[in-house]
Amino acid sequence: MKASEIQALLDEPACSHNKKEKSGCAKPKPGATAGGCSFDGAQIALLPIADVAHIVHGPIACAGSSWDNRGTRSSGVTLYRIGMTTDLSETDVVMGRGEKRLFHAVKQAIDSYAPAAVFVYNTCVTALIGDDVDAVCKAATERWGVPVVPVDAAGFYGTKNLGNRLAGEAMFKHVIGTREPLPAPPRIDGRPTYDINLIGEYNIAGEFWHVAPLFDELGLRILCTLSGDARFHEVQTMHRAKVNMVVCAKALLNVARKMEDTYGIPFFEGSFYGVQDMTNALRDFARMIGDPDLIARTELVIAREEAKSHAALEPWRERLRGKRVLLYTGGVKSWSIVSALQDLGMKVVATGTKKSTEEDKARIRELMGEDTKMIDDGSPKALLSTYHEYQADILIAGGRNLYTALKARIPFLDINQEREFGYAGYDGMVELARQLALTMESPVWSAVRKPAPWARQSGPGTVLAA
Ligand code: SF4
Repeated sequence: MKASEIQALLDEPACSHNKKEKSGCAKPKPGATAGGCSFDGAQIALLPIADVAHIVHGPIACAGSSWDNRGTRSSGVTLYRIGMTTDLSETDVVMGRGEKRLFHAVKQAIDSYAPAAVFVYNTCVTALIGDDVDAVCKAATERWGVPVVPVDAAGFYGTKNLGNRLAGEAMFKHVIGTREPLPAPPRIDGRPTYDINLIGEYNIAGEFWHVAPLFDELGLRILCTLSGDARFHEVQTMHRAKVNMVVCAKALLNVARKMEDTYGIPFFEGSFYGVQDMTNALRDFARMIGDPDLIARTELVIAREEAKSHAALEPWRERLRGKRVLLYTGGVKSWSIVSALQDLGMKVVATGTKKSTEEDKARIRELMGEDTKMIDDGSPKALLSTYHEYQADILIAGGRNLYTALKARIPFLDINQEREFGYAGYDGMVELARQLALTMESPVWSAVRKPAPWARQSGPGTVLAA
């Protein structure tokens, strides 16, 4: 990968901050890749493509540090859950055996698992020793007749976020547009079917399955979700969609923008978290497709689903109203989560802004009010002192903060990719409310905050009054 190509990805013109001031994406600071390297980001973006053999070309530690780090679910084949690596050793590096090992690894993957395709991830070591991964992939494709796709996102290229984009770039360059979709089966009601794509939706904990039936009902066929519960042949047909929705803008915006430039497919940014955002997403699809009948039917579905979710949320609202939240996600989904929490009558008293631009911060103020504290320092100490200072009732953050919360004996909800529950869509919102109430009301908190029985004893056998 040339330095100019990497720079072009960092200067993605569709990013809101680049539209205005051309500031480019934040440059990694020393230590910034501790949150994940580019290779890790590329795997996160593509690993959910379930019928592909994902081979990590490098030392085994690279595969170990990234494998299975996302709770994405597949509705069928589970090949993506098998970790594969060329497991390069020092001897392989010294003897220049990297390319040969890769070629054999591809053969082994094809012989053992008959995958729809093989993705080969470049890593720091193989990029540094100059293995020609592109050439090996090309030769392997010709030899075995299975698409072998190079994903050139070596760790030292930059951050995890850049890795997401590099992965998108690989899909755009090598996969999208290489197959035509099958014609949509006719609908019972005789209405037309419209093809769409979802970009940056990962089906964490199977949450997209809450949403998919609504698309079916409206006659919106999802050609591909890049990449939750996706199949290789679906990615190949993405170029035939009428509209793209970018679910996580930071990750794969470049794919949407390039598909607009090359295939003329318009896109919009949206989210499935929270009632309002879910409604907006359905409306945006109908509006961009522009069929008046679809627009009318979408409104009917929205009215029905909103009424249903309103009724289902009512008992939870009672229990959650007025509760104070410390939100530390660092990701763009914080907007949607904030609106979902506000929907439930909760107050976000502080939020993480470590990865936010000035524009993001202005939006936080607009959404949450001037008195919301912005936390740049995400260390456990800073989080806990904010928690206590602002008298929060719960910490909502990524899995890595779980033990901070447990050690401090405060309620915690995991909002990131490792979580066990799906929060997308109208039904997901009810699940979110339920999980919030369950964690805050759990009797475990009062139990663990009480002094231990032995702490109340002054000597052997003497128990003081509590
Ligand atoms: S690709 Fe590089 S930075 Fe990433 S895990 Fe491997 S060695 Fe570490």
